[in-house]
Amino acid sequence: MTAGVETSMQPAAGSGPRRVDPARVAELYRQLLTELGEDAGRDGLLGTPSRVAAWWSEFLDYDPGATAAVFEYEPSGGNHLVVVGGITVWSLCEHHLLPMRLTVAIGYCPRGRVLGLSKFARIAHAHAHRRQLQERFTDGVAEDVITAAGSGDVGVVAEGEHLCMSMRGVREQQARTTSTRLAGRLRDEPDLASQLLTLARSPR
Ligand code: ZN
Repeated sequence: MTAGVETSMQPAAGSGPRRVDPARVAELYRQLLTELGEDAGRDGLLGTPSRVAAWWSEFLDYDPGATAAVFEYEPSGGNHLVVVGGITVWSLCEHHLLPMRLTVAIGYCPRGRVLGLSKFARIAHAHAHRRQLQERFTDGVAEDVITAAGSGDVGVVAEGEHLCMSMRGVREQQARTTSTRLAGRLRDEPDLASQLLTLARSPR
């Protein structure tokens, strides 16, 4: 039954084509530390700029890997909602360059094919590994699932914990931001939407 359809992950808006130059980034961090009143040459900080630069490389040049196979499948009538929940990814708020942790649930109604489960995590990771906004993340994931599944009936719910809210500004530890993107039947049929929202909220 495997159709063996392979699609490659395209870098979406916000990722930028540019690779990180670790030596240059390390040098800029050395300057930043000095500007912040540090002795960038002291023992504890000696390796910090190159460590941080290596992290930027790892984060931005992240390769979500080959995407999983797509399988042929024709659902036999009725509502057929597939939901993959509990996908957790780390992204970086582009306004403050602080981490945000996103827990994602993706639902769709198959039309002739279903996606391998790892595909959803790969799509989420591909959109997380960049300077990001939660709303853009949610939209980007939905669009990729629509393309990959060949179904316009897609819903994505992301719950975000933003360090820019919990460690600075209002310092609100418990605040969670939920963003939702509903398309096709998920947008038009309240039953399907509420199934997805209920599953997205169920304890993990
Ligand atoms: Zn922020």
